[in-house]
Amino acid sequence: RSRVLSGIQPTADSFHLGNYLGALKNWVEMQDDYDAFYFIPDMHAITVQHDPVALRARTRNAAAQLLAVGIDAHRSTIFAQSQVPEHAQLAWVLMCLTGFGEASRMTQFKDKSAKQGAEHASVGLFTYPMLMAADILLYKAEYVPVGEDQRQHLELTRDLAQRFNTRFGEAFVVPKPFITKESAKIYDLQDPRAKMSKSGPSPAGLINLLDEPKVSAKKIRSAVTDAEREIRYAPDEKPGVSNLLVINSVLSGRSVAELEQYFAGKGYGDLKVDTAEVLTEFVVPLRKRVDEYLDDPAELDRALDIGAQRARSVASDTLAAVYDKIGFLPPK
Ligand code: ATP
Ligand code: MG
Repeated sequence: RSRVLSGIQPTADSFHLGNYLGALKNWVEMQDDYDAFYFIPDMHAITVQHDPVALRARTRNAAAQLLAVGIDAHRSTIFAQSQVPEHAQLAWVLMCLTGFGEASRMTQFKDKSAKQGAEHASVGLFTYPMLMAADILLYKAEYVPVGEDQRQHLELTRDLAQRFNTRFGEAFVVPKPFITKESAKIYDLQDPRAKMSKSGPSPAGLINLLDEPKVSAKKIRSAVTDAEREIRYAPDEKPGVSNLLVINSVLSGRSVAELEQYFAGKGYGDLKVDTAEVLTEFVVPLRKRVDEYLDDPAELDRALDIGAQRARSVASDTLAAVYDKIGFLPPK
């Protein structure tokens, strides 16, 4: 089985519906066909100012949610990045292979540092892509599922892998972007032309998986639609209605075409009520499972520990080869 690797940052108290339908749901499915490594990049989370208590809670929260949506800690390797020290160790080597100009061209750094005022951005934010390259290269993953926003970083990862292999000898697999089969893109309920995002403009447009189901159902029922009456999938003309159809479809397993037929002659209110119900049926048991994991943090930490051990057994081999090729003395 080829190996895939993917991470999701612990930067909020809850994952949102876009994270789940656009990413995590695919992660669950990929476990059948791939040797999957899923990690929580807590080291990336400190590249911007953070609160230590919140970070620890969010990391456990993220792990609980991953397990609760169906990531199987036996079939897949699930771990926290900081518990595998090889990430930091390899990142240093890769930083030394990256040109300052090359790193300066990373658009995510430009965007994120501009937001904080460039003077205040951390050097860690600047070297974020090299840590990400280390995350990927340690596991010799053949495929890495990446969104548009991470494409440039994956390109850099590929360049660094090739550069190392050419200069010092083969140590890395050059990873390919994973083309996911039509993963759903979810839009803000209040501004359906904008992507649903934790940093979006209005809380009313964002569905967090761990919010009170009643609150989320109400957000669905208050979603922005349009002045027509017809329920059909037309993302350009009818982004709000189309977004609800997609959410409903992916959660309920009914195709969009089936839903269009089912709602023929009915009104937007019916679509909203049905979608709110489908969402509630999904989040109620999910929240219960998350609570069960969080009620037993020792057990959760044990699951992460097993994942970290398994990750280290792969990562330490890669790092040892790198250290040897680069000319470090053998370990004692
Ligand atoms: P930010 O606003 O800080 O970028 P975000 O809400 O976009 O946060 P990320 O942490 O960037 O969330 O994304 C985590 C994963 O979820 C990524 O794989 C990303 O592609 C996916 N994702 C995020 N938002 C959506 C969305 N609205 N629809 C589909 N997938 C999404
Ligand atoms: Mg994002």
